[in-house]
This record gives sequence, structure tokens and C-alpha cells, in this order.
Amino acid sequence: MARVLITGAAGFLGSHLCDRFIKEGLHVIGMDNLITGNMDNIAHLFPNKSFEFYHHDVSKFVHVPGELDYILHFASPASPIDYLKMPIQTLKVGSLGTHNLLGLAKAKKARILVASTSEVYGDPLVNPQPEEYWGNVNPVGPRGVYDEAKRFQEAMTMAYHNFHGLETRIIRIFNTYGPRMRVNDGRVLPAFFSQAIRGEGLTVFGDGSQTRSFCYVDDLVQGIYQLLLSDYHLPMNIGNPDEISIIDFAKEVLDLVDNPKAHVINKDLPVDDPKVRRPNITKAKEILGWSPKIDRAEGLRRTYEYFKQVVK
Ligand code: UDP
Repeated sequence: MARVLITGAAGFLGSHLCDRFIKEGLHVIGMDNLITGNMDNIAHLFPNKSFEFYHHDVSKFVHVPGELDYILHFASPASPIDYLKMPIQTLKVGSLGTHNLLGLAKAKKARILVASTSEVYGDPLVNPQPEEYWGNVNPVGPRGVYDEAKRFQEAMTMAYHNFHGLETRIIRIFNTYGPRMRVNDGRVLPAFFSQAIRGEGLTVFGDGSQTRSFCYVDDLVQGIYQLLLSDYHLPMNIGNPDEISIIDFAKEVLDLVDNPKAHVINKDLPVDDPKVRRPNITKAKEILGWSPKIDRAEGLRRTYEYFKQVVK
């Protein structure tokens, strides 16, 4: 039975990855320090003999007994308000944590896939963003702690590939949504759903003309799975190129939730908030034969079912 270590296992993406790899017949070792993760996301896996869990901070030395075939590094605070609250931990998990896991991969002769991000493109001057674009990042702005940790992560991962011949994969993840997102994580989709369900104002930052492109979690997980099994070691964008302004996105959530008390209110735009974001997914299409299958209407319906249960 192949064995995979998944860091950030109790988080939104990590928990969906644990489910997927167990379904594929692998033995899954989940790891999380629970600073943003939630055990409820993986509680259903504990009775499964193919699953084990370590409560550990990967920015400290990582020890895993036995063999490992794969490592997926998904541990990190991932929402802008989280990295404002935990700037040092964000920097450490992307840098020291990545270094520890690359070392573990080398020791175990495992293939490692690291979760990078569209944030490496910063506030992009090119739209959509192809992998060749080097980005427009403010290293000392509030988002710099996340962006620069992830850029360092990519550099370190490529160095282990080039210098040690390690089998590495780098995925650049664009905005992703679905069940198990944290209600209070501050990101736009949990914010809008919880505000709409409670009949409050949907907090649109700035005039809402900034754009994002939202990918449903099942599509992302499929892309991660295919990239891991491919032989492509350069960074690859995975995301849904269907771009929408934040104000139009607020209207879609209002229409779906249909709470007459809910409405739009405007708040200040955060510093360095990217004005546009949309993946160029030519590489994913050509190299993996991957493209997203679930459109926003369907994805939002599924996600609404989840938020109905968890929003109080
Ligand atoms: N946003 C918003 N209202 C909120 C939260 C976010 O208008 O309550 C905006 C934010 O300014 C950004 C976009 O929605 O332009 C996406 O923000 P998010 O925090 O989800 O992630 P980002 O894509 O910026 O990393």
C-alpha cells in the first residue's frame, strides 16, 4: 500500500486531499498543528485503518516512521486576515516547513508536491497569468509574508530538484471554494455566504471592480492528483479561468441565498489587494488533459448546502 504524508490535513484543501487519497487506496498520514485547521474536517477518517494523524508543526523537524511514497505540503494559513494575525508562522511554514519536508522527501526517496499560489503573481500586470509571468509582489506589504514564503518555497523546491534530483511538483493554486471552508476565515466566499444567510450586509471591499476566478474544490483536487502522478516538475497553474468582479459575485450570492434582509455594503479596499486574477491553464490542459468541470452556478449551490449547516 503506497503511503502519503499530507500536511495541513485538517484544513479545507488538506482534508479533501485526505479523502481523495484514501479513496484511491493509499495509506494517509495527516499532519496539522491546528492553528487554522479544524479536526471536524477529518473526524470521519479516524475510524479508518488507512488513516493516521500527527498533531505537529512542520516548521519544526518532521519525523515520520516507516516508508513514504508521496508528500503533499498544504500546511499554511491561507487567508489574508490569517496572515495578518500570524505573519511569522506564515513565513515559517512556507520556508522552514518546506525545507523540512524537502529533507524528509529526500531521506524517504518520496515524490513531493508543494502547494504554491496565484499570490506569487502579486498584483499582476498581465491578465490572465501564465506560469512564465514573474509577478508584481510587494515584499514588505501585509501580504508579503505569504507571497514571499511561497516564492521562497518554489525556489527551494526547484533547488532540491536540480541539485538533489528530487522528484518535485509545484502547483499554483488560484481561488478555490467548497464545503469545509472556515466560516470566519475572512475570505470573500465564506464572508458573503455567512452574511447573506444571517441577513447582514455583504462587505464588498472597495468598489468591487477587482476580479477573481473561483475553482470548485473537487476540480482542484483532481488537478492535484493528476499533477502528482505526472512527470512535470515546473510550476503549474490549476484554477478555473471563469473571471468575475467581486460586486457581481456578491450579487450571485444574494440571488442564491435569497434573504430579503441581505444587501451590499462597501468597506475599504485592503492594502495591495490584487485588482485582477485569472489563471492561464493552457499547460494543465495540454500536459495533464485537465480542465475544470464544475461551473460556478453548480459549485455555489453545493457550497451553499454546506454553509446552511454551519452558519449560526
Ligand atoms: N473581499 C471582499 N469582501 C470580503 C472579503 C474579501 O470584497 O468580505 C474581496 C477582497 O478585497 C478581494 C477578493 O474579495 O478582492 C478576494 O478576497 P479573498 O480574501 O477571498 O482572497 P484573495 O483572493 O484576495 O487572496
